[in-house]
Amino acid sequence: NVRVRFAPSPTGPLHIGGLRTALFNYLFAKKHGGDFVLRIEDTDQNRFVEGAEEYIIEALNWCGIPFDEGPGKEGDFGPYRQSERKDLYKAYALELIEKGKAYYAFDTAETLDHHRKDHEAKGKTFIYNWHNRLKLTNSLSLSEEEVKAKLEAGEDYVIRFKSPENEALFLNDIIRGEIKIDTSILDDKVLFKSDGMPTYHLANIVDDHLMQITHVIRGEEWLPSLALHTLLYDALGWEAPKFAHLPLIMKPVGKGKLSKRDGEKGGFPVFPLTWNQSEGYREAGFFPEAVINFLALLGWNPGTEQEIFSLEELVDSFTLERVNKSGARFDPEKNNWYNQQWLQRKSDEELAEQFAAELAKKQISSEQGYVQKVVSLIKERASFVKDFWELGDYFFEAPSSYNEKAVKKQWKEGSPEIMEQVASVLNSVQDFESPTIEEKVKGWISDNELSFGKVMPPLRLIIVGDMKGPHLFDIMELIGKEESINRIKTAIA
Ligand code: GLU
Repeated sequence: NVRVRFAPSPTGPLHIGGLRTALFNYLFAKKHGGDFVLRIEDTDQNRFVEGAEEYIIEALNWCGIPFDEGPGKEGDFGPYRQSERKDLYKAYALELIEKGKAYYAFDTAETLDHHRKDHEAKGKTFIYNWHNRLKLTNSLSLSEEEVKAKLEAGEDYVIRFKSPENEALFLNDIIRGEIKIDTSILDDKVLFKSDGMPTYHLANIVDDHLMQITHVIRGEEWLPSLALHTLLYDALGWEAPKFAHLPLIMKPVGKGKLSKRDGEKGGFPVFPLTWNQSEGYREAGFFPEAVINFLALLGWNPGTEQEIFSLEELVDSFTLERVNKSGARFDPEKNNWYNQQWLQRKSDEELAEQFAAELAKKQISSEQGYVQKVVSLIKERASFVKDFWELGDYFFEAPSSYNEKAVKKQWKEGSPEIMEQVASVLNSVQDFESPTIEEKVKGWISDNELSFGKVMPPLRLIIVGDMKGPHLFDIMELIGKEESINRIKTAIA
């Protein structure tokens, strides 16, 4: 049974990279009929941010990728917050000490700092491992009695992993293949802290083991920890899960990882939901389907030309083998395009409902059926529901001004007289429907040997206020006979 987990630390809002990690875990789980677990890694109390956990859960739900087990959805492997599991980690740290795989270290922050500076002065970097271990204060350099005395005296200590010297270690990653590492370069990472809390490394592998996680799918920034994690599983005599490290998400232009600042500078969201001053995808008007769709293609490719995928289609097509090794470039323009594509796939009814809510904010109340017809005429050019107003304000209000450039170009001597006649032609139309209006107006144009150019552009200008918009007769049908005539009268008054 496939079991995967998304294991964020609640240190702030979920950013785009975290959201993509969650999505890939979800897709992999669902593809294999497995479980998607949410585990909150909150052992670092200093970095805890109020509201972050709620934010993460709401974001996953909004995207339509809910977890099967996690806080508030207890399964057989809870609790799912590490702070609520804190009593169970120490035993494993002690077990490692017993097996000779870990040791107590009593060095103060000042001592370590001193060593660091000392090394730096010589142009070297200080690594706490086989290299220096015996020069420091720990259970490998002290006698058994000394260690006992320190522990009994209640001195602060940490428990460090004893990384092996000079061993060739072979790591396996589904996306990257085999990676060979010389263990001599590894430092003796802290597993357990003086505050009685495990570090990320210990808690993470203990929980992955206890929660029976089969595949760890996470960001590339954790690749450097893979050696330690592999060694830890080994030291505890546990079978390690399979690992897949996802490529970084890169800035739209230039080098480096996408950051919150890129979004602020470029005016595009990088968070699913609004957090403090940073606007989220939801509030910016993205559809969850579009977000899921563009996220999936950030680092994964289907091997075909297909770009539009529903969540179900993603579940079907997704494989870790098709995740790329190299960084994925974030493209805000393309994200907008995805939203435009998904907007076209929405029903006019659903879009009209959302548009009506926008209209209500402007104190415009309009009948649902009318809004729906407007939507069907203008949606083709919209990427977001919020574009509707800009594209179709004239369906709800007569133009309060006319585009000046267009006026200069289209409003000519004789235009007022021609428009006056158009008004009476309109007045004579019984069935005020687009094809009939069109037939009448066009018939009148040819009967009077007028040109289209003299009639249609100024008429559009009067009705719309600009040269934009769909088929003019469709617009007139919707706003109606009276309103169409009124707009002409206002313009030539
Ligand atoms: N708590 C880690 C994070 O915030 C989890 C890393 C992992 O998935 O192992 O990204």
